Amino acid sequence: MTTKAANQSAVTYLAFCQQHESEMLALLRKMVEIESPSDDKAAVDRMGAFLAEEFERLGGQVTFYPQEAAGNHLKAEFAGGGSGSVSGGGSDRADAKPVLLLGHFDTVWPLGTLAKMPFQIKDGRAFGPGVYDMKAGIAMMIFALRVLKEAGAAHRPVTILLDTDEEVGSTTGRPIVEATAKDCEAVLVLEPSQGPQGHLKTSRKGVGDMTIRVRGRASHSGVDFEKGRSAIVELARQLLEIVKFTDLARGITVNPGVVQGGTRSNVIAAEARAEIDLRIARTADAAELEKKFAALKPFDPDCVIELSGGINRPPMERTEGTVRLFGMAREIAATIGWRVEESSTGGGSDGNFTSALGIPTLDGLGALGEGAHAVNESVVIGELPQRTALLTALIQSV
Ligand SMILES: [Zn+2]
Repeated sequence: MTTKAANQSAVTYLAFCQQHESEMLALLRKMVEIESPSDDKAAVDRMGAFLAEEFERLGGQVTFYPQEAAGNHLKAEFAGGGSGSVSGGGSDRADAKPVLLLGHFDTVWPLGTLAKMPFQIKDGRAFGPGVYDMKAGIAMMIFALRVLKEAGAAHRPVTILLDTDEEVGSTTGRPIVEATAKDCEAVLVLEPSQGPQGHLKTSRKGVGDMTIRVRGRASHSGVDFEKGRSAIVELARQLLEIVKFTDLARGITVNPGVVQGGTRSNVIAAEARAEIDLRIARTADAAELEKKFAALKPFDPDCVIELSGGINRPPMERTEGTVRLFGMAREIAATIGWRVEESSTGGGSDGNFTSALGIPTLDGLGALGEGAHAVNESVVIGELPQRTALLTALIQSV
């Protein structure tokens, strides 16, 4: 379908979503009430089973990717086609590359959180663990597919991929996300939108972590002071070098967030370590930053330093393809009286992986809300219909 036709459809889709808002909310409630912390496989798999049923009801072909420790990742494939009511659409799109809707159904909330933080509706917001990050986004995916189906709208095939360890680094999800995205035309990520206006995300920083371990030599601080080699002092000197790697103008930040070391105040510390968070705005900066770490030498030749880690999520750069997707979104939003903006964030998502593969990726298409990973986690209910209408029309436009 042409973008123009999809734009016109957005008005119809919005009306449908507004009429069915209470159903969307009921679905969201069910999902929030199935707790799914990343580290509890049985719980996450219960959520996967629920979602599989929802997708199958809409005609989706569900595949699980079994995991030993993490929950099973889930893919649902929907055929393209639909008769389409406007010229430019039609069955020729059935064979096209799919559009990928990407997300995760694990949350950061441990099992039992629901008892203290139940799903509730207050002041036009829905509250609950994982409601914003990102069960509302999944509810929007389900509804968008339902809208397309009921409208008989022409669209290319749609693949939904939801992984189960995004909140803990996507270790097992990453290869599946990448392999799936490779065959897709574009990726729409249903992670929460950005800020109080709910901007879409067209760039994200790359993320990494580095651990530095220092080994010195223990000795009695009173009896044998000169024989000791303090790992803590060496680590402190290293950290003063490491923080110089931060370059705000280039979007590079280096943050020693955890420091540990020593045993007692009267012992020269034999060991010390620091965990350092790394963020980069450009892929090209990853190698250089890692090289700087590798070049660190002990100030005290009797101390040994060891480094492990590196950049594990490449940046999602504001590529031409992403800008084009945002342009489509903006045009569609305008037809329903909504001026949508873009922004960038320092946080990573699975969209970083797909974007780094060169596949146009637009992120932050999920709910408007606040409090991801915090006790005030909530979404604005009244915004769900327009965001779902945008997603639906966007699927058609890609
Ligand atoms: Zn998330």
